[in-house]
Amino acid sequence: MTTKILEATEQNLLTAAELIKKGEVVGMPTETVYGLAANALDPSAVKKIFEAKGRPMDNPLIVHVSDTEMIRPLVKEIPPLAQELAKRFWPGPLTIIMPKSDLVPMETSGGLDTVGIRFPSHKAARELIRLSGVPIAAPSANLSGSPSPTTAQHVFDDMNGRIPLIIDGGACAVGVESSVLLLNGDSITVLRPGMISVEELLEITDNVKVDKGVLEMVSNAEKVMSPGMKYKHYSPKADVIILSGSTQSYRRYVSEHTADGVMCMPFEKSDVPDGVKCIPFGKSGEEQAHLLFDCLREFDKLGAKTVYARCPSRNGAGLAVYNRLLRAAGFKIIFL
Ligand code: AMP
Ligand code: MG
Repeated sequence: MTTKILEATEQNLLTAAELIKKGEVVGMPTETVYGLAANALDPSAVKKIFEAKGRPMDNPLIVHVSDTEMIRPLVKEIPPLAQELAKRFWPGPLTIIMPKSDLVPMETSGGLDTVGIRFPSHKAARELIRLSGVPIAAPSANLSGSPSPTTAQHVFDDMNGRIPLIIDGGACAVGVESSVLLLNGDSITVLRPGMISVEELLEITDNVKVDKGVLEMVSNAEKVMSPGMKYKHYSPKADVIILSGSTQSYRRYVSEHTADGVMCMPFEKSDVPDGVKCIPFGKSGEEQAHLLFDCLREFDKLGAKTVYARCPSRNGAGLAVYNRLLRAAGFKIIFL
C-alpha cells in the first residue's frame, strides 16, 4: 500500500470520508496532534487502527464528534458537570470520559464500560467527521511508543505503507494530546493533562485532582484509571534525561558531560554552552507543548545518543509537557 498525503480541501476530505465509510483508516489533523481516524462503531475498522499503530488492545480510543448532538447515542448519560465543561471548552482539546452505550463496541473502549468523547476544534477534523457521518475513533497517529505526530510528514514517517491516506491540515496548533478527564459528581480527576489546564478546570469546580499516573511510573500489573499511562510512551531512540535546576546548574552539568552524540533540549539556545548541539523547545508551556514532539523526532534524525532536557514547569500547560517528557525520558530525572 502506498500512503498519499493530500491537502485538506473539501474534495480531498470527501475522498477521506469515503475511505472511512468503507472501514479504512485515514490520517487526520486535529488541533492537538494528528490522529488515525476510523469509524468508531465498526469493530473491524477499529482493529485496523490497533494494527497500524501496534497498540495494545486494552488501551481505549477516544471518540471524536463534530457536534454535541452526536454524543447522546454513544453514552448512557451526559452528567451535568460534563455539560458545563462542554459549554466552556468545546470544541477544543478536552476529552471527557462517560459511561458508554451498547452502540460503542468493546474494541473501541478497550474493554471498558466507559468511553472518552472529544469535540475537536480543527476545521478539517470537524468537516471530515461530518462528511463521514459517523463518530470517529482517533488515537495519535504514531507507532505505539513513539513521539506523537504534529505534522503530516511525522504521520508519513511512522505510517507509510500502513494506511492509504493522510490529510495535511498543517502543523498542530496545540502540539500535545487532549486533557482527559474522569468525572464523579462534582469532582474532576485529570487522567492525562493537556492544554486545558488544572488552573482552568478550577474555575469550574474546586474539586480537581490529578491522577497518580500523571507524574509517577505505573507498572503493567497495577490497575490504572487510564490504561494508556502504563505503557512506554513518546520515546525517541536517544536516551532522554531531564535536568531539574537553574540555568546555571544546567549549563554546568552539560559542560561536564559533553561527549559524542550528546545533545541538549534547553528552553533557549543561551542555556547551553557554546559548541553543544541543541534544539530549544521554548520558554512558555504553550510554546513547549507546540514544539516538544517535533524536537524529540528531530533528535532521532540528528542521531542523538543522549539528550539533556531542561525541566518544564508544572503550572498551566507546563504540566502536560512535563508529563510527556517524563515518559519520553522513562522517568529519568536528575535534580541538580
Ligand atoms: P491516544 O489515543 O493516544 O490519544 O490516548 C488516549 C488516552 O486516553 C490513553 O491514555 C487512554 O488510556 C485514555 N482513555 C481513553 N478512553 C478512556 C477511558 N474510557 N477511560 C480511561 N482512559 C481513557
Ligand atoms: Mg497516543
